Amino acid sequence: MLASRFVAGRCVGIFRNVYRSHIRTHLITFAEKRFESTLSAPHSVPLPQHHNNHLSRSFSRSAMASVESIVQQLQGLSITPAATVSHAAASSPATWREALEQSSSAPKSFELIKTIVYKPKTAKTATPVPLVVVAREGTDVISGALGKKLNLKEPRLASEDLLTEFFSLDKNSLSPLALNEQTFPKVVTVIDNTIESASTIFAIRGLSTSSTIFLTGRELFSYIKRLETQENALHEIDFEALRTDGPAASATTPAKKEKESAKIEGAAQIAIGIKKEVDFAGWYTNVLLKADMLDYYNVSGCYILKPWSYSIWEIIQDWFNKEIKELGVQNAYFPMFVSQSVLEKEKDHIEGFSPEVAWVTRAGKSDLEEPIAIRPTSETAMYPYYAKWIRSHRDLPLKLNQWNSVVRWEFKNPQPFLRTREFLWQEGHTAHLTKPEADIEVRQILDLYRRVYEDLLAVPVIPGVKSEKEKFAGGLYTTTVEGFIPTSGRGIQAATSHCLGQNFSRPEMFNIVVEDPNDPTGQGKIYVWQNSWGLSTRTIGVMVMTHGDNQGLILPPRVAAIQAVIIPCGIAAKTSDEQRKTINDKCEELAQQLKKIGVKAKADLRDVHTPGFKFNDWEQKGVPLRLEIGPADLAKQQTLSVRRDTGIKAPIPLAQLTTVVPQLLETIQSDLFKKAQDNYYSRLKEITKWDDIVPALDNKCVVALPWCEEEACEDDIKERSGQSSEPQDERAPSAGAKSLCIPFDQSRWTPIVPGQTKCPACSKDAKRWTLFGRSY
Ligand SMILES: [Zn+2]
Repeated sequence: MLASRFVAGRCVGIFRNVYRSHIRTHLITFAEKRFESTLSAPHSVPLPQHHNNHLSRSFSRSAMASVESIVQQLQGLSITPAATVSHAAASSPATWREALEQSSSAPKSFELIKTIVYKPKTAKTATPVPLVVVAREGTDVISGALGKKLNLKEPRLASEDLLTEFFSLDKNSLSPLALNEQTFPKVVTVIDNTIESASTIFAIRGLSTSSTIFLTGRELFSYIKRLETQENALHEIDFEALRTDGPAASATTPAKKEKESAKIEGAAQIAIGIKKEVDFAGWYTNVLLKADMLDYYNVSGCYILKPWSYSIWEIIQDWFNKEIKELGVQNAYFPMFVSQSVLEKEKDHIEGFSPEVAWVTRAGKSDLEEPIAIRPTSETAMYPYYAKWIRSHRDLPLKLNQWNSVVRWEFKNPQPFLRTREFLWQEGHTAHLTKPEADIEVRQILDLYRRVYEDLLAVPVIPGVKSEKEKFAGGLYTTTVEGFIPTSGRGIQAATSHCLGQNFSRPEMFNIVVEDPNDPTGQGKIYVWQNSWGLSTRTIGVMVMTHGDNQGLILPPRVAAIQAVIIPCGIAAKTSDEQRKTINDKCEELAQQLKKIGVKAKADLRDVHTPGFKFNDWEQKGVPLRLEIGPADLAKQQTLSVRRDTGIKAPIPLAQLTTVVPQLLETIQSDLFKKAQDNYYSRLKEITKWDDIVPALDNKCVVALPWCEEEACEDDIKERSGQSSEPQDERAPSAGAKSLCIPFDQSRWTPIVPGQTKCPACSKDAKRWTLFGRSY
């Protein structure tokens, strides 16, 4: 840890450039995302009601006009649509389906048609020839394999600009009906070969988000097929066969291809737009943005915590405050500035941080006489005052905690919550008369950290002690709870509780000393035993990574600001105002009932949004439980519950609501934990032979080794396991395995026989089972 920090410090100049260009990419991506979300959620800014009505009326008038002309054109080709439907603007497949299901004029059963446009790679000067894919909703379109088959280079999802240029439509209005004598020759068109013979009716966008035309597969096929010429063929593709042949075909550059297909397949089918299993870093960023947890900030490596994530931190604060106060800890606050002389007092300690310390060197136009550091942690800021305040053994134990932010000017790639230049945490600093007393507290606090993760965030962790190399610089020993991110196969230090020993209280350091109450001569002195312990907003990132899926965030009920959202459903254009009011009132009434028994409930009565939009919105934000109420539910005196974690739907009689909902929330909480724990444990590999280590790491596992506990061996393991590893994700540091912790509970593994069990790395005698892994 120390070594890598120094390297980062020395190479600041080089890193800075890399870093800047990386950040720029980030911002551009973000700008695009914002653009996308404006397009896909046109109603996200609530307009005054009358204004909005006016807009949608005039919009649907023009939409209807275009539908009429399309229908006329189809009739000219002897095609009569099974139905045409105008509906509320629907920007996603889910809301589209929902709008159609609510319409009385839509067929009882239908399938959606998706139209995806790609831009194959071409020379900058060449005119692009877009690839238009017309497929059934459920068809898996693998662009890489498709490009290979058609001999088109690296097809990527087309930008909105390209769609406008070729079709004058946005991606949600586009459909095969935009293909005509003018557009067809300019593009390459592919049709899913199962469409022609399908017996179902297909829903096709009427070139707007608010109108739909229903055609048979045969009709749709013939509509496009007639445009075919000698020069421009219609490609009928068997996507199922393409999918099966796919992996072999894309073996040349797997990482790159995987990333592409992550985006492309995702775009049409999953809310987050990037698949968690394929581009984890991209997925993570998208989840945070779409769940409205975070925003980027104009100082790189810093982020804004929005209410949806800050509320989680508040819940952790409330719980943790209550627990530490039971232990006699009091909250206080120390300034964020540390003078240079004090900061640099403990040499090992400062060596651990110095490359990352941010300094204030100027005030207004004048340089400061002595630069002032912004705390990277507060040991050195606080302890001169501990020396002043602790006059006698009766002043012990002194137990203070502060909730604050610290700054570590990292030059590694930032990642929200996991690695940021400023982060929120609590830091506890305590002083004790004896080592046993300090030891006990170290473990009490560590167990509170374990409970924050396991009981609140439903994230399993393994408590243990750090190796000498990985311990807190300047401390005596460090205990840790180690988490694990299955998707990346990396360990993550979740929180640490350190015993500093007497390193900081020594006379040449801060000289925190009391008379020894047990020395009969009255001359004996005791340098106090100190601990420090910290838990940061990293908790939130680990939770998101552990539970989230391709629909977005999944919040464990105990940390959710909203645990149950109640959504009125089944309200159609023909619903009377009175019926609408009855349903809305019922939703509000249920929310009040639940709030009364301590469930954080909310009725979502926003009338500018369809139920489908709301479902999607709260799913992305990870609300654990959704309750739907429609006229039919009301008649049966029930509500339909839908679990965010499993999607399982079950009706709940309204009379039992206040008993069933709290139970269900508890079940969700424990199921999430169980699932994450099973996942973690299944990736913990007991390994006794060197040759098995790297394959296990490459298989996204953490390895437990019977280890000699020697630092040189640890360095060697890191180096040797790093050499043979795969190319790494650019945002994930350190490819070699380092020691994560020596678990307190050794009983999970085969007992180590002293003198017989050998360390698989150096063949010396093994001491304890130690977890090694790639890590954050
Ligand atoms: Zn060894």
